[in-house]
Amino acid sequence: MIRYQLICKCKNEFESWFRSSSDFDQQCKKGLLSCPQCGGSDVSKALMAPNVSTSRKKKQISAKNEKTNALEEFNTALRNYRTHVTETADYVGDRFANEARKIHYGDEPIRGIYGEAQVSEIKELHEEGVEVMPLPSLPEDKN
Ligand SMILES: [Zn+2]
Repeated sequence: MIRYQLICKCKNEFESWFRSSSDFDQQCKKGLLSCPQCGGSDVSKALMAPNVSTSRKKKQISAKNEKTNALEEFNTALRNYRTHVTETADYVGDRFANEARKIHYGDEPIRGIYGEAQVSEIKELHEEGVEVMPLPSLPEDKN
């Protein structure tokens, strides 16, 4: 036996037992199903939405909002960080890798620097244990 949640054209929902799903199909086709409310035979299986999917959907929506907020916060943080670096650090241009290395090995006093470096240079620095991080570029830089 199979129990189906059925819905009538009149929006009345009710449950009914069937021997099998094909039993339901046959009864439906022959118009043998009747709604207890209006007696109509325009009855079909109700579409079931499991709670899981609705709560997941809600979660996705709130996650999206959180993401937007997080992105804004992140951009603000990047902007502040960038401003801080450019105001307090020395611009060393493409000598960055060399300067960073000198500071790391104590050949030069510790100071904040920023500049340009090639990917290969950054990689070398990382391998030597010199911690550098990219200065973020922000959308407004492209204006
Ligand atoms: Zn009905």
